[in-house]
Amino acid sequence: LTSSRTSQGLYVIHIAAEMAPVAKVGGLGDVVSGLGKALQRKQHLVEVILPKYDCMQYDRIQSLKALDVVVQSYFDGQLFKNKVWSGIIEGLPVYFIEPLHPAKFFWRGQFYGEHDDFKRFSYFSRAALEFLLQAGKKPDIIHCHDWQTAFVAPLYWDIYTPKGLNSARIAFTCHNFEYQGTTPTSELTSCGLDVHQLNRPDRMQDNLSQHLVNSVKGGIVFSNIVTTVSPTYAQEVRTPEGGRGLHITLNAHSRKFFGILNGIDNEAWDPARDAFLRFQYNANDLHGKAENKDALRKQLKLSSIDANMPLVGCITRLVPQKGVHLIRHAIYRTLELGGQFLLLGSSPVPNIEREFEGIASNFRNHPHIRMILKYDEILSHSIYAASDMFIVPSLFEPCGLTQMIAMRYGSIPIARKTGGLNDSVFDVDDDMVPLQFRNGFTFLTPDEKGVNSALDRAISYYKKNPEWWQHLVQKAMNVDFSWDSSASQYEDLYENSVSRARAANLAQ
Ligand code: ADP
Repeated sequence: LTSSRTSQGLYVIHIAAEMAPVAKVGGLGDVVSGLGKALQRKQHLVEVILPKYDCMQYDRIQSLKALDVVVQSYFDGQLFKNKVWSGIIEGLPVYFIEPLHPAKFFWRGQFYGEHDDFKRFSYFSRAALEFLLQAGKKPDIIHCHDWQTAFVAPLYWDIYTPKGLNSARIAFTCHNFEYQGTTPTSELTSCGLDVHQLNRPDRMQDNLSQHLVNSVKGGIVFSNIVTTVSPTYAQEVRTPEGGRGLHITLNAHSRKFFGILNGIDNEAWDPARDAFLRFQYNANDLHGKAENKDALRKQLKLSSIDANMPLVGCITRLVPQKGVHLIRHAIYRTLELGGQFLLLGSSPVPNIEREFEGIASNFRNHPHIRMILKYDEILSHSIYAASDMFIVPSLFEPCGLTQMIAMRYGSIPIARKTGGLNDSVFDVDDDMVPLQFRNGFTFLTPDEKGVNSALDRAISYYKKNPEWWQHLVQKAMNVDFSWDSSASQYEDLYENSVSRARAANLAQ
């Protein structure tokens, strides 16, 4: 192991399929930029490698330019050229790999959902390592994410360490164990991995179907550090129900497996400076919050006769994981309890989309319900600011960001006790939790009764005790969900792993 540290900081390279705000589908994109920026503030040298998608938000990339190098990388028995670009995203240096491959892997108008996703991302994982080797980079940590770049871990040890790219420890973060990147074993050879070596129960063979290989499993087995995005989810995925077949592998590798709660980007989500809001506000002066509520009600033609009528918000992808039937129930229940409900949701699942379009058209001109079925970043800011409560009834939730953003905007979460929700929302009536940490309403069973048990209490407290509610809002707004503390946990894991490797090297 050779050291490449130029200062006291570590040299960390993230290889990922997403990075907010230029290429974001979900939480992964937020983590790559949020964690990256926090580590950079802590004096580490952080770089990111992304595919050069045609559909990125190019206006958010500064100083984009093609490098004067062509990286040749192996795939399907041949060498293909790759153009490499550099740019800056939110202050972080980023390299973009553009494969000059006839299949135009990242020229598809969308990030995921292509028939050859396994090929596209195994190609990218290999090309990213090839670039590091040819550029002579000597990172301390290579951090890969989710199934799309989990290939980096076996590729690094099997192919790149022998070639001399050998300075790094490998970290792998799985952001959602629902997506494991499984494929027929033969496909693994395309990127140069040795199927005979890897198609074994203790390596990359899928635990549920022996004729498949599993990329996330490869990430777990071949990385030095494995993390997921909250402590509770890290426990859940070690059980048969939560692990979707990978619990066996995670339990076998439990000593290197950790759950670290994601943070949120406190600059992007700040009600005191949010340019998308008509009225800025902070925990010491909540007038602006009330004004935002009034303004949004008028904008969306909801009744604003009673300023004190509670407004429940929900912003989500409408997919089964998010408890769509419980969201539907919460809409009707809120109405029964004398509240208003505002849903902003988009669905990639056609029958869910149709169902919600049906409900939305029933409520088209309703004075207390509005359902906006699309993805709208600007509107999302207004809803966080305007709502009094925010419902997140997920069936499972690796971390979840919306409950944390809602709290930062003084909207009190009503959340199911699962995954990262269980690590960030603590019930106001839970005597087991110290008073200063109680910040919302929770329920355990994912059914209508469960939702009612939290929603009914929230609305009742809101109506009966406005002063108490205001105090709760201020408390929630002051909870620190910034990346700084989560980034310190990653920093500790990186540093321990690097020093163990150095000590082992010295001993040799
Ligand atoms: P997931 O990654 O599973 O979708 P998270 O809670 O981790 O869920 O992250 C969701 C992010 O996407 C949040 O920043 C949320 O504000 C945003 N979001 C979700 N749905 C929408 C939508 N329809 N319009 C705007 N933003 C949305």
